[in-house]
This record gives sequence, structure tokens and C-alpha cells, in this order.
Amino acid sequence: MTARLIDGKAAALDIRRRVAEVVAAFRTRTGRSPGLATILVGEDPASAVYVRSKGKATGEAGMEGFSHQLTESTSEAQLLDLVERLNADDQVDGILVQLPLPKHIDTDRVIAAIDPAKDVDGFHPVNAGRLATGLDALIPCTPFGCLHLLKQELGSIAGKDAVVIGRSNIVGKPMAMLLIGESATVTIAHSKTRDLPDVVRRADIVIAAVGRPEMVRGDWIKPGAVVIDVGINRVPAAEDGKTRLVGDVAFDEAAKVASAITPVPGGVGPLTIAMLLRNTVVAAHRRSGLADPQAL
Ligand code: NAD
Repeated sequence: MTARLIDGKAAALDIRRRVAEVVAAFRTRTGRSPGLATILVGEDPASAVYVRSKGKATGEAGMEGFSHQLTESTSEAQLLDLVERLNADDQVDGILVQLPLPKHIDTDRVIAAIDPAKDVDGFHPVNAGRLATGLDALIPCTPFGCLHLLKQELGSIAGKDAVVIGRSNIVGKPMAMLLIGESATVTIAHSKTRDLPDVVRRADIVIAAVGRPEMVRGDWIKPGAVVIDVGINRVPAAEDGKTRLVGDVAFDEAAKVASAITPVPGGVGPLTIAMLLRNTVVAAHRRSGLADPQAL
């Protein structure tokens, strides 16, 4: 391996430490702690793990957590009703609805019901539009985390050629918007892109957000490129019948060519929760009429 390993855990810890300081200052100033409400519908085990770790991190940062666990059979109307109550609750600065929702619920309708000022996932069309037009927004946590790692690694990314593989509203599209905002030259590749390896070979920065285990091979990577692997894929382990996590990039191959690369796990993943905490404390400041905290 010749690439530097980008340590997402350390970067996330640093952000979480700074968030905790900002939370303490906010409490001194306003007499209350920022609050994050999480909503989990159903019993999907992976979603339950995510929501639990978000709740734990909220407490560790000195914020209030309000956890709402609803059964799989919850109707869309009941869920919308809860969102409305949380929108009206002054203790709540951030509302996170864990995705995916059960099939009988219209996810877009639920996201649109969240007060954009409390939309700490940054999925509401108002926040997506604000990000695209360069206004202050709440920015989706995972791509925001990727940008943080890139800036830490490269300093300025102005003028760099960046290829984002994946065009989801959660990762790919907001990632592209953030990179354009930093004056990179951005290509968004997706399932219909022709000659994907050739497209990726042009990139100084590769962001893989596909959901296909080890799809991006080492010979797709331009020597010296920085590779950010968003993918989290569970695959069977070779020997013991257990599973292991791999990214969307064939790590061992890419690490021989890239200048820096994120591992899976321990790369982008930890940044997602750190940015959620960051968004919540920023939302609390904006809702209280305070300027955004300088430290974040
Ligand atoms: P998604 O399924 O919504 O989108 C996948 C995208 O990949 C689509 O836009 C599709 O066009 C593109 N794609 C599919 N097959 C392709 C192919 N053969 N070639 C090129 N492009 C192709 O997924 P998502 O929600 O954006 O997530 C992507 C990955 O990131 C998943 O592995 C997911 O688990 C992971 N993820 C990680 C975090 C984190 O915290 N690290 C957060 C969100 C998502």
C-alpha cells in the first residue's frame, strides 16, 4: 500500500469534541441544550443500530435526545402527526426520520413535512434547493463528511477534477453540489454512464457512493488521486461463514495507486454522525437567532 489512510474516526472525534464545546456555550447562553428527535418506524436491525448510536452520540455531546420508536404498522397519518408535533416543540432543534421507511409510507411526503429549519439530515427540498443555489442550508451529513475529509487532505480543491459515482439525493447529488461550491470540476456518473472506468481515470478526486461491493478497481484510479469510499456493503467472509464490511472500492488495489484513501469501516462512516451533531447544534443556533458557531 502506498496511499495515506484517511482516518475518519479521528476526524469525527475532533468534530464531536468541538460540537460538545459549542453545546456547552449554547447552554450557558440560552439556558437550554440543543435537542435532537429521532424517529424509527419498524424493526429493521441495521436501522435500529444506526438510531441507537445517533442517540448515544447526542447524549455524549451534551444534547437532549428524544427517541420515538413506532411499530411497523404505524400509518403515514400517524407518522405525519408526530412530525407535526415535533415541528411545534421548542425543545426540538433537529428531527431525524430514519430511512428506509416501511413501503406503505410515502417517504417524500414525510420528508416534506419536516420543518426545514429542523431538517438536520438536509433531505427537505428547501435545503436541497438552498444548497444548490449556494444559500445557507442544512447539508446532508454523509457528503458533508466526505467534503470535510477532502479539505483536510487537500486543502483547496478548486480546479480539481472530481468524479462522483452515484446520483442519490442522500449522497451523490449533494456531494456534487458541495464540490461545485468548492470550485471543483464535477462529473456525476451513475448506472447509465458509458465507459465508467475511463470516466473515473480522469479524476483527481473519486467519490464512490454506489452500494456495489468493490466495484471500483485499482486500474480505474489515476495515480495520485484521492479516493473517498462511501459504500457500506456486507459480504460473506472467506472462511468462517461470517460477514464482513467492504466499500464500493477494491481497497487493496486502489491503495497501491491513490495518494490517499478512506478505509471501510473507519472512513466516511464516523463522519456521518459527527455531521448530524454539528447540524443539530447549528440548527439550534439559527432557531435561537444566533450566528452560526465559528468553531464548526
Ligand atoms: P442508492 O442506491 O440510492 O444510489 C446508488 C447510486 O449508484 C445510484 O444513483 C445509481 O445510479 C448508481 N449506480 C448503481 N449501479 C451502478 C453502476 N453499476 N455503475 C455506476 N453507478 C451505479 O445508494 P445511496 O443511498 O446513495 O448509498 C450508496 C452507498 O453508500 C451504499 O453502499 C450505502 O450503504 C452507502 N452509504 C453510506 C453512508 C455512510 O454513512 N457512510 C451513508 C449513506 C449511504
